[in-house]
Amino acid sequence: MDSPFKTPIPGIYGIQNWGNGYFDVNAAGHLVVKPYRTGAGIDVYEMVEELRRRRVTVPVLLRFPQILESQVRALHTSFQNAISEFHYGAGYQGVFPMKVNHRRDVVEELLRIGYKYHLGLEVGSKAELYVGLSLEQSPDSLLICNGFKDDGFIEMAFWAEALGKRVVIVVEQLREIHSYCRIAETTGRLPMIGLRGRLYSKGSGKWEESGGETSKFGLTTEELLECFRILQEKGYVDHLRMLHFHIGSQITDIRKIKTAVKEASRVYAKFRHMKAPVEFLNVGGGLGIDYDGSKTPSDSSANYTMQEFANDVVYTVSEICDNEDVPAPTLVSESGRALSVYHSLLVTNAANRAVPGLAARHESNLPGKSSAVTEMSEINRDISVKNFREYFHDALQQREELFSLFDLGFLSLEERALGESLFQEICERALRFSKQANYVSDEFEILEKALRKKYITNFSVFQSMPDFWTIGQLFPVLPIHRLNEYPTEYGILVDLTCDSDGQIDSFVDVKDIKEILELHPTSNGTPYYVAMCLLGAYQDVMGDFHNLFGMVPEAHVVVGENGRYHVQKLIPGSTVRDMVATAGFSPDDLAERFRSHLARAVQRGRLGEESAAALEQAYLARAGDSTYLDLG
Ligand SMILES: *Cc1c(COP(=O)(O)O)cnc(C)c1O
Repeated sequence: MDSPFKTPIPGIYGIQNWGNGYFDVNAAGHLVVKPYRTGAGIDVYEMVEELRRRRVTVPVLLRFPQILESQVRALHTSFQNAISEFHYGAGYQGVFPMKVNHRRDVVEELLRIGYKYHLGLEVGSKAELYVGLSLEQSPDSLLICNGFKDDGFIEMAFWAEALGKRVVIVVEQLREIHSYCRIAETTGRLPMIGLRGRLYSKGSGKWEESGGETSKFGLTTEELLECFRILQEKGYVDHLRMLHFHIGSQITDIRKIKTAVKEASRVYAKFRHMKAPVEFLNVGGGLGIDYDGSKTPSDSSANYTMQEFANDVVYTVSEICDNEDVPAPTLVSESGRALSVYHSLLVTNAANRAVPGLAARHESNLPGKSSAVTEMSEINRDISVKNFREYFHDALQQREELFSLFDLGFLSLEERALGESLFQEICERALRFSKQANYVSDEFEILEKALRKKYITNFSVFQSMPDFWTIGQLFPVLPIHRLNEYPTEYGILVDLTCDSDGQIDSFVDVKDIKEILELHPTSNGTPYYVAMCLLGAYQDVMGDFHNLFGMVPEAHVVVGENGRYHVQKLIPGSTVRDMVATAGFSPDDLAERFRSHLARAVQRGRLGEESAAALEQAYLARAGDSTYLDLG
């Protein structure tokens, strides 16, 4: 389609609002990623075309390790700025919580680029600690062990201390302190201890219940005191070095953070008064991301910036420490979402299956139409901005008529098809007229929803965007090309799974939540690519294998010093073979059984020897295919 637009159309997808400077549109109308927020950036469409030449087809996950670097630097700088501004008496050290994105490349990259900022690691399970024990991290950085722990977990943390790592065992429940004391007595080693407190303050947003008195996590005030008493009795109080609080992820409202940090600082101060040499105050995660760009405390947004977060934490702790006359603690945050969210996006193809002009085609060659069909045809011809409400209601009535005639056996399938397509066209016209007339009613809102075009999209929500399905979290979705061509269609994205939940039907919008996405008409033979952005936190690792759709291939893309970009690493996606194995089927055993089916078919004369051999080869070859659609 020829476009009257020579330059990118601003605003429709809100890139400037949610992109945090990492996303843009170039003159070709292509989505661009700028890992350092400057320069020409990476043309995502060209990247996908290049990958296609290298036989990597969509869906593909693009990772931008340099965005991880930018975010690590931004977080560190924000805290440094706040520390200078408020003359805070101690430093800041971050840790990356592994559960947010446990992919090797992500964790290793964060520790590598975070080395100079002493970025550490937070682990919450034995498997995560197993990894953490062996990874290289700055000797000054922390290795924080959270989560419920058994003796085995705690023992592993002791090994970390023996290796010289700055490990902190954060006690979540009383039994862990007993376990610590036992292992300390037998080994003579004394790793740092932290206590996770339960605050009265709650967060806001989807994870509100992670905090507060009824939370699943943390020690009550009485339990904190009991831990302290036990440590005193054993003579281990000197090793109580951290207090930890985490009131939930994606705190949407800055006021909740201030309130929680205030309470946490008081708890810290009281421990200092009791002569516990607590050195670290760990404020947990929760640093929110503005997914929809609205800068509000709504669920997929946050009403503050990273700098404001750092300012509020530093200022609040500083104020309470002054007031209580205790030394300022080293601040620790476990900001996982903020470090990783921007660095990955999924690109895949989408196609609208509607066949345009169906009604016109049928109408011309269908003699002797029934009255319901003729009526619809006339409504379709005469509907206008002046009469659309009335004509739309007439069409509704004619549609009833159409189906009862069909039920009674008076209509052919062709007539029914024609009636359905005419009705569809009338609805589309009526909707257009209602917008033209600025007419708002429930009826036409329902109509708009019903008329959303279904774009069949080559991916699985359950694998690639699980939080959309589980908690209704919104993510920015947009085409990666034709961004200088006005999007004339209103659509939703339906995925490949045989599950009615497998669709994206709510979209980010600055003012509201949109139930439609502006998209372009698609044509056969020309791919139409869409990107789902901000998947780097929790999404690209938490997905499941619904319908046996597997991991998508990954390409890690970097910008070189000359401004040119290239693929640094390619990781293949799951194959059919991989996926059947996850369900407990042995691919070799399946092949064996397939062979015996073939032998039987040959025996019964259904297949010749040669065809059977060819089928066997084909079956074996298919095991290496991707689980997604191969549309070339
Ligand atoms: C999940 C979790 C985090 C990460 O929170 P974000 O909001 O992603 O930064 C930090 N600390 C603990 C204890 C967690 O459970």
